[in-house]
Amino acid sequence: MKIHEIYLSLQGEGSEVGRPCVFVRLQGCNLSCSWCDTTYARSRSLRVRDLKVKHVLQEIDALSDGGACKLVEITGGEPMLQAEEVMMLGKHLRDAHYEILIETNGSIDLSAYQCQWIRYVVDYKLPSSGMESKMCLKNLKVIKKKDELKFVVQDYKDFKRALGIIREHRPRSQILFSPVWGKLSPAELADWILTERIDCRLSLQQHKIIWGENTIGK
Ligand code: SF4
Repeated sequence: MKIHEIYLSLQGEGSEVGRPCVFVRLQGCNLSCSWCDTTYARSRSLRVRDLKVKHVLQEIDALSDGGACKLVEITGGEPMLQAEEVMMLGKHLRDAHYEILIETNGSIDLSAYQCQWIRYVVDYKLPSSGMESKMCLKNLKVIKKKDELKFVVQDYKDFKRALGIIREHRPRSQILFSPVWGKLSPAELADWILTERIDCRLSLQQHKIIWGENTIGK
């Protein structure tokens, strides 16, 4: 697997926010979002390691103190560009009783990768990202109650588009709204959510609040 970094931190977003979590950040991405905050994971650099699944598993075990911390997130870049290895790693993690989150950018059809023991966080790209045309709309039907659909919102146009998607496709998953860091205030997004009575969760990037926005490996 092409690995950018494996590290222990607190889960910064979504329904597991605040829990210790081992993050496996894979290298490479097929999109280029205007507000990307992980550009370092998109390019090939000297930091990137090519590891076998069993070695990734060993690093996760070491960081989690033999599974004492149960939560693992596989992220990127775009992890599903390495879907075969990701699913293999997922099976090993399940056998070792870890809880598995996969954060994916919404462009890759997930229908062939469905299983009970993986929870997807699908990061739907709204107009301000410049990448909405790449979204796989089929995923909105594929994701389930255990999964999360995340909208990263930069402005009101993004917010209205997210609302349109929710109302048209009625996804079964949990819904998350997150403001683009430094571009939209959480208070403004909170007001919009309450005005529209959306059954969702406002998700702030807690790791940036704690350690600052440019910290890598946190
Ligand atoms: S999908 Fe994620 S890693 Fe890829 S460009 Fe967009 S924000 Fe960056």
